[in-house]
Amino acid sequence: AKDRGRNRHEFFDEQMGAKSRDALLIEEALQQAIANNEFQLVYQPIVDARSRRLVKVEALLRWRTPTLGFVGPDRFIPIAEDNGQIISIGTWVVQEAARQARAWHSRPEGPIRIAVNVSAAQLVDPDFIDVVDRAIADAGAAPTELEIEMTERVLINEADTVVRVIDTLHEKGLSTSLDDFGTGYSSLSYLTRFHLRTLKIDRAFVNGIDQDERSLALVRAIIAMGHSLGMSIVAEGVETENQAGILAELGCEYLQGYLFSPPVPAEKLIPNVSAA
Ligand code: C2E
Ligand code: CA
Ligand code: CA
Ligand code: CA
Repeated sequence: AKDRGRNRHEFFDEQMGAKSRDALLIEEALQQAIANNEFQLVYQPIVDARSRRLVKVEALLRWRTPTLGFVGPDRFIPIAEDNGQIISIGTWVVQEAARQARAWHSRPEGPIRIAVNVSAAQLVDPDFIDVVDRAIADAGAAPTELEIEMTERVLINEADTVVRVIDTLHEKGLSTSLDDFGTGYSSLSYLTRFHLRTLKIDRAFVNGIDQDERSLALVRAIIAMGHSLGMSIVAEGVETENQAGILAELGCEYLQGYLFSPPVPAEKLIPNVSAA
């Protein structure tokens, strides 16, 4: 009943064109978050579908505040995107990922690539390439150690800018990927304009592959299409051995999900991840 009341309250606020009380509290707390060291990156392994070896990791943002406690990215990222705070937060994320990439230089198993999530507003920001360049240079990392993940949302607006940014990233040696494929707004024709290196199949599709024929057919088609465009494929949200087996069989190169590991702090990341 309490939840219903709160939802009604938020709905009412939004109807009035005002921000919800929650959103205002988050917005206010976000203003101090970087200065107060409240952000942390955690890293989720992405493994080779056949060998199960660690190939790269995805960096995911965590935020714990003294006043609000733990707030998940699904809650605060959209607010930061709306009010522009995502630019400074995103800069911190790129810098931190570059520092971590540099720290992993000296792993006995060799360097590891870190995929970083970037919001649409960040990617089309005129300073974005400079931010990336400087983060890599300041950290002493290699451009090949970073991958930029974007969702279909960035492909909708300012297409020319996005094409230029993607090309520039590739020229500099960074990699790129298209996140949450299948859940967004884009038409397939976007894929021919934006030459992203990797396609990530959203876990909504991965979930169903061992349950129903239609999900399986869809994932098979996505993999075939990605491959025909020269992209490699990551399946997200792999939770069962059965799913992993089917995906490997379908020729999906890389797997990510709780079956292998949840996102973990850098120091907990194990060198050669394999399913238990
Ligand atoms: P995403 O980029 O699609 O990230 C994958 C999400 O799925 C992560 O949630 C991850 O913890 C979760 N996940 C991974 N494996 C599994 C699994 O096997 N099963 C299930 N059910 N979930 C799994 P998280 O960390 O809460 O992040 C949520 C979203 O917040 C991300 O979705 C991304 O869109 C956004 N986000 C996170 N960090 C950043 C960031 O640094 N910058 C930006 N712009 N967005 C971020
Ligand atoms: Ca992602
Ligand atoms: Ca995703
Ligand atoms: Ca997502």
